[in-house]
Amino acid sequence: MKITRIESIVLHAGETREADSSYEAFLVRVHTDEGITGIGEALSSPTIMKAIVEAPTSHGVAHGFQDLLLGEDPLQVERLWDKLYRGSIWYGRRGAVIHALSAIDIALWDIRGKALGLPLSTLLGGAVHPRVRPYASHVMPPTPREAAALAERSARQGFTAVKLGWGPLGQSPATDVALVRAVREAVGPEVDVMIDIGLVWDATTAIQRVRLFEPYNLYWLEEPLPPDDLEGYAKLADTVDTRIAAGEELTTRWEFRDLLERGRVDVIQPDVAHAGGITETRRVIEMAETRNTEWAPHVYGSAVLQTAAAHLVAASPSGKLLEYCMSESPLIRQLTTPPLQIDPDGLFTVPTGPGLGIELDESVVERYRVA
Ligand SMILES: [Mg+2]
Repeated sequence: MKITRIESIVLHAGETREADSSYEAFLVRVHTDEGITGIGEALSSPTIMKAIVEAPTSHGVAHGFQDLLLGEDPLQVERLWDKLYRGSIWYGRRGAVIHALSAIDIALWDIRGKALGLPLSTLLGGAVHPRVRPYASHVMPPTPREAAALAERSARQGFTAVKLGWGPLGQSPATDVALVRAVREAVGPEVDVMIDIGLVWDATTAIQRVRLFEPYNLYWLEEPLPPDDLEGYAKLADTVDTRIAAGEELTTRWEFRDLLERGRVDVIQPDVAHAGGITETRRVIEMAETRNTEWAPHVYGSAVLQTAAAHLVAASPSGKLLEYCMSESPLIRQLTTPPLQIDPDGLFTVPTGPGLGIELDESVVERYRVA
């Protein structure tokens, strides 16, 4: 089998550019000479992703990805990961280039599964958890009353864990405590509650604020500090009992090694459409497992990302939680067949069809396609 074309697909379903990341998507469709195609996603700036895929070769270590992939055997997924990494090393290694590599890698795994007639979770070693435990992930609304209503609705839908993040969080101790208390009181003691602060504090502020949250028994506190403040993360994680989670911005095993070794956080959150695809996220998961550190995938993109992340959790003995983006974006709710679903037990059933086990609904793609 040979790769014949890398198709970039940019989708935009938001009214304005202020819409959150679930309202736009960069997808790739990798075409082959045998008619099998694979789909993947990068959670990043779509315009930049398209440029990285389509750029003509500049020189020996500054290739665009399509140039490196045409004519290659798509089943040799790990070798192609390395070829793309090395072929872009002069302008890449981290950040946007790894986001684009993530999309290609997910698409190649999809092709591998379709060629072999096996679901991705089987290719990854087998579904330890055929149904995975999702947590409902919301943007924090402006008021405690709205926060309580959102959390309560998720709990009533069957979710056993709920996270609210960003929005008004982080601005003042009184507002933060009012929001956290409202969520805890709305869902009762049995539901796990996570709070995502959104990169706004220093370590000392974070330590003070975590202590104010202690009566509300958070399962984790997410990203209180900027991602490069690894010493701050270490100080925080070493000082408080509440789990500290971070890592959604990071790419490659090398950045996660630093977060684990220098940042000493309790939970790492690789995003498969950002950190380096299935291939690299597996390596990151193995590092967490080696250290007996919890991991839970970050997910805030389209149904393609949601599904890819679910396969990783399903196939990992240490996979405990799946971020489940509660946005009503059509790029989540309508983009794929079969549609994503939470069953009556509050669990997410991982698709069992070949590859990712989903197909794009072409009418939805055409409706929202802008490039
Ligand atoms: Mg987050």
